[in-house]
Amino acid sequence: MDNCIFCKIANHEIPGKIIYEDDKCIAFLDLSQATDGHTLVIPKQHFDHFLDVDQDTLKHLICVSQDVAKKLLVKMNAKGMNVITNMNEVAGQSVKHFHIHLIPRYQENEGFNPQYTDRSELVNLDTIYQQIHED
Ligand code: AMP
Ligand code: ZN
Repeated sequence: MDNCIFCKIANHEIPGKIIYEDDKCIAFLDLSQATDGHTLVIPKQHFDHFLDVDQDTLKHLICVSQDVAKKLLVKMNAKGMNVITNMNEVAGQSVKHFHIHLIPRYQENEGFNPQYTDRSELVNLDTIYQQIHED
């Protein structure tokens, strides 16, 4: 897709620190390096986000993400990993080409700090459950 920075990296039109590549996808170091080894796994074909990706491509990307995550864990001596994808601006997506973040973790509160607020006192679980099941 024109003007998509990740399409350009996938097509080798602009440089990226590529650590894995096959005919369908690439993995390359994220410029921001939230933690050391922070990597993005993307399909070569342009999809805006998670919901747009066809399932064959998605399965392949998940398997590649697992392989790359294993390699990062060993090579970077990480203790854990966050595996996330952001969908749409409201969820923090800034580049509209589907990507999976692999964020190696070495210690708590370093570089990346996903926190889930406990809102159980504020919401009604039954109401939410029913809303999801409504036709
Ligand atoms: P998101 O906010 O989930 O859309 O993530 C986009 C990520 O792409 C950010 O973490 C950026 O640091 C990263 N990024 C943007 N441009 C580049 C680039 N040219 N090379 C590598 N990473 C990039
Ligand atoms: Zn693209």
